Amino acid sequence: MHIIDLILKKRAGKVLSKEEINYLIENYTNGNIKDYQMSALLMAIYFQGMNHEESTNLALAMRDSGDVFDLSSINGIKVDKHSTGGVGDTITLVLAPLVASFGAKVAKMSGRGLGHTGGTIDKLESIPGFQVEVEFKDFLKQVNDIGVAVIGQSGEVAPADKKLYALRDVTATVDIIPMIASSIMSKKLASGSDAIVLDVKVGSGAFMKTIDEAKELASLMVEIGKLAGKKVTAILTSMEEPLGNLIGNGLEVYEAILTLQGKGPKDVVDVTVEIGAQLLLDANIETDLEVAKQKLIDALNNGIALNKFREMVIAQKGDVSYIDNPEKLFTNKKIVINAKKSGYIESINAANIGVAASRLGAGREHKDDIIDLKVGLDLHKKIGDYIKEGEPLVTLYVGDKGIEEATKLINDNIIIGNEKKENKLILGFVK
Ligand code: URA
Ligand code: CA
Repeated sequence: MHIIDLILKKRAGKVLSKEEINYLIENYTNGNIKDYQMSALLMAIYFQGMNHEESTNLALAMRDSGDVFDLSSINGIKVDKHSTGGVGDTITLVLAPLVASFGAKVAKMSGRGLGHTGGTIDKLESIPGFQVEVEFKDFLKQVNDIGVAVIGQSGEVAPADKKLYALRDVTATVDIIPMIASSIMSKKLASGSDAIVLDVKVGSGAFMKTIDEAKELASLMVEIGKLAGKKVTAILTSMEEPLGNLIGNGLEVYEAILTLQGKGPKDVVDVTVEIGAQLLLDANIETDLEVAKQKLIDALNNGIALNKFREMVIAQKGDVSYIDNPEKLFTNKKIVINAKKSGYIESINAANIGVAASRLGAGREHKDDIIDLKVGLDLHKKIGDYIKEGEPLVTLYVGDKGIEEATKLINDNIIIGNEKKENKLILGFVK
């Protein structure tokens, strides 16, 4: 086999075999295939595409380039969810203890934030003492003991994807749906869960800007998951505006705790319950979706899910006084931005609102940046709400930087007009 022949083959629109894809990934990872050759192949894939089988083979080859976690010593069905990335997405922090309180096993490895999106691991670190670096055997034990653990990624997951993604980033080949699907699924399949719900975000704050693109991506990921022997479903949800009202690390833990106290924003509750119900079905705990949803809502209202969250915080050595007094999770230094005119909120550019929080110190522009866990912002109004001139639009929770820039981003990216729009949250399912 030779790389030039494979570039020629794809350039001509032919299908690469499993052996050819394995050869590519193995030799690109070990450096035998050069970046310039892989770049040419990527551009050929951009124009010629890949079919489902090629995408699956690519996902499996990239999965097998690194650590694949064995969760078989955990009793019961292991469930997981993955979001394609949004702004203010607090769902994991609510969902993990919620479904665990019904007996589903959640052995979750999460990431840190970069760019305009936040990361669950950073958020959890806003609880002082909370350990995100946990030995794998202790991680397994915790899930067997209490049903849930959320830790940082350990080991090396899909290094081939990491190398390839970095190359795609600088060769204008990120936006190839089959490549995105295999990239995401290579990492998901390495995590070892039996059932996965993919939350595919659509809209201004998401990778996928249209519903058609998102459907195509979701269908392909579901197909890859099934071909790899997992139960995988997808839900399409709106990222036309951030999820919930709060954005920022400690602020999002606060929002999660409010939700676990039965006082969460409707959008956060709705997405959590939709995903949770599917996971309870996948874990053979419930058989009827509507019944499952009602039980999940009850568990948010009666404190059962909050109690499971508390057990997780204790197990991972976090300071539980922050659950009892969650206002400690964010700074009390605030600046209120008032509406410049009266009208309906017509649009909120989620990505740029994420950037505003990031500029205040809540996010990273570069991998090594240090973040301020106590800053962020509170959106008092969402799409379709009416606001009067001079009423509070957004409260910034500030530290020592970015106030001017964040204020400008807020004013430029929340559009007030005459039309009362509706932001539909749940946009579809792929099963
Ligand atoms: N996220 C990923 O993990 N991979 C992609 O290719 C795009 C988004
Ligand atoms: Ca939020």
